[in-house]
Amino acid sequence: MRQSKLFTKTRKEAPADEISKNAQLLIRGGFINKEMAGVYSYLPLGLKVFKKIENIIREEMNAIGGQEIVLSSLQEKETWEPTDQWNDENIDVWFKTKLKNETELGLAVTHEAAITKMLKNFLQSYRDLPQYVYQFQTKFRNEIRAKSGIMRCREFVMKDLYSFDIDEKAHLEFYEKSKKAYKTIFERVGIGHLTYLTFASGGMFSPFSHEFQTLTSAGEDTIYVDESKGIAINKEVNNDEVLAKLGVKKEDLVEHRAVEVGNIFTLGTRFSDALDLKYQTEEGEKKSVFMGSYGIGPGRVMGTVVEVLSDDKGIIWPEAIAPFRVHLLSLGEDEAIIAEANKVYETLVKNKVEVLFDDRIGMSAGEKFADADLLGMPLRAVVSQRSIKELGIELKKRTEEKGQVVSLDELLKMLETKA
Ligand code: ATP
Ligand code: MG
Repeated sequence: MRQSKLFTKTRKEAPADEISKNAQLLIRGGFINKEMAGVYSYLPLGLKVFKKIENIIREEMNAIGGQEIVLSSLQEKETWEPTDQWNDENIDVWFKTKLKNETELGLAVTHEAAITKMLKNFLQSYRDLPQYVYQFQTKFRNEIRAKSGIMRCREFVMKDLYSFDIDEKAHLEFYEKSKKAYKTIFERVGIGHLTYLTFASGGMFSPFSHEFQTLTSAGEDTIYVDESKGIAINKEVNNDEVLAKLGVKKEDLVEHRAVEVGNIFTLGTRFSDALDLKYQTEEGEKKSVFMGSYGIGPGRVMGTVVEVLSDDKGIIWPEAIAPFRVHLLSLGEDEAIIAEANKVYETLVKNKVEVLFDDRIGMSAGEKFADADLLGMPLRAVVSQRSIKELGIELKKRTEEKGQVVSLDELLKMLETKA
């Protein structure tokens, strides 16, 4: 991608009303656009990151048997009445509307009831189970506070998977698999070292639910971490009884600010009972399907990455989710430099290296370096008067102070591609 062709531009200042670091950096870099408080659009660079995170999640969900779908965002009142969740006292973040004929509709806050209702059309026998169904789908929530940039939006995409099993035992086997998959996801996106499996309150069917909490001062949650065990406990279940159950000592717990990047929850038969999702057992008996739900917000993950992996110059993308692997800069308007930089660019493209080429003219080296730091690609490759006098390309990791000069062949080798 040639930066000169990108419609977005970097900017020195974020909007004055934007207080969160993730939104400030992402807006300044042109990754996202702020539409209003808690509502952001994804622009080319930001969408690339988002899609990479989405794809990592998709791969891990497919690996544990997930089938991808997309449910609708418009939901009817009748879907949520059986569990009394149309009631604003039970779900207080609904955006609701009415059709011209007075029919009441809502914009999806979540999808437990909707998917249960949909699957009634397909699940009848024990032979139809288990099923693990997921989507990347837009949720709308009238959140009270929306001050955390893309970490808390009023419109956001969620990956929500729902599990449908014959009984609790089968459910728990999948539940454990999902825990591992979540751990892998957070490792792959680059926040594994800061993310803890966190015990939170369960529901009717389970003593606990589990959250995946990433340590950051930008988080809105408080958790208690047992570093030696690698687990954490949510505020709401931090009591003597729970500590004893988990074999955790009070004195080993350290309080941290954190953000919930994902959660997994045993739903049991709450929805299948209420919406009458039953299957026939081998013995011909009718039983309620045993369910679970598993959420991750890819946008919140992206915001969290920016919060925990940036410095005073800008973002530091982990390679797995960086919009581009290499940021190539041509410095100077000299024809020889432009020709050399173009050659490097074309060669990288030919070798399928994801590269952003800062081919913009009329900009100082300082401005281009500052933009490269702000945008945060893992590798910066500079073609300049100086680099041409040596081997050709000055290469530097985003995390390094000083780089090295390499030839194009060496660069390709380092990127593990053939010249
Ligand atoms: P929180 O307590 O932070 O509001 P939640 O318990 O409401 O989260 P869920 O409804 O379980 O979250 O949603 C599943 C996942 O969706 C969360 O773990 C998070 O990653 C993401 N998520 C939830 N709310 C938002 C939001 N307003 N903006 C962006 N992502 C969100
Ligand atoms: Mg919430």
